[in-house]
Amino acid sequence: SKKPYRWQRVLLKVSGEALAGDRTENIDPKITMAIAREVASVTKLGVEVAIVVGGGNIFRGASRAGCSGLDRSSADYIGMLATVMNAIFLQATMESIGIPTRVQTAFRMSEVAEPYIRRRAVRHLEKGRVVIFAAGTGNPFFTTDTAAALRCAEMSCCSQLQTNSIIHTDIFLPAIMQAVNAEVVLKATNVDGVYDADPRHNPNAHLLETVSYHEVTTRDLSVMDMTSITLCQENNIPVVVFNLQKPGNIAKAIVGEKVGTFIGC
Ligand code: UDP
Repeated sequence: SKKPYRWQRVLLKVSGEALAGDRTENIDPKITMAIAREVASVTKLGVEVAIVVGGGNIFRGASRAGCSGLDRSSADYIGMLATVMNAIFLQATMESIGIPTRVQTAFRMSEVAEPYIRRRAVRHLEKGRVVIFAAGTGNPFFTTDTAAALRCAEMSCCSQLQTNSIIHTDIFLPAIMQAVNAEVVLKATNVDGVYDADPRHNPNAHLLETVSYHEVTTRDLSVMDMTSITLCQENNIPVVVFNLQKPGNIAKAIVGEKVGTFIGC
């Protein structure tokens, strides 16, 4: 029997909304535990998992800017701080079931978590640790979806080295062959995937199995913001959009089973 395709290194994007569950609290511990359990099941198989957490369950900069003199940049910094709260909660849950986890923040809060250092993040992943990237990109006017695309591209740091080294010497080849790139952004949301119309307003909306980057941007399929989707496109990073609330979906997405919508090409 053919072995199913398995991603080797993935970037899992967990939105803040997804963490809220039934919304009685900002963070539902049942959800963080469900995520932790599914991540544990795949790290056991050797898949390397990096996570970018959102903060929309606590604070969204764009919708709060303008209130009582709060400028957009300050609002966005509050939003980024919100993602750190989620990250620490998720880390605690993961470590409670024995998954070694590091949080790295895009701006320094070194009493609380490591600062983002790309090479160190890669090393953590190689050692089988889960790395949670918090504080988005560290810049206002961006989103955590863009942070997911950016970190995914950054974790694929070996592609340049590969071509250069093969030309110059064969000695590095064995090491290069083992190089692992973050291969995909897995976007965990509260919907089943990308639809051709808004399923909340249109009962005839269909879930799309695959969709191109071009369609996402031109048909305004509102799955990710333009900045994040074009960053994925420019770096040939496929995106899988799937429902986190269905048990087993995270593990399925991480091992590369068909789930939700695949965005690529
Ligand atoms: N944010 C930001 N820069 C980033 C990432 C996030 O300014 O690189 C802020 C922004 O205000 C955003 C908030 O953090 O509204 C929470 O992130 P996001 O809305 O992406 O979270 P999600 O929708 O995934 O819950």
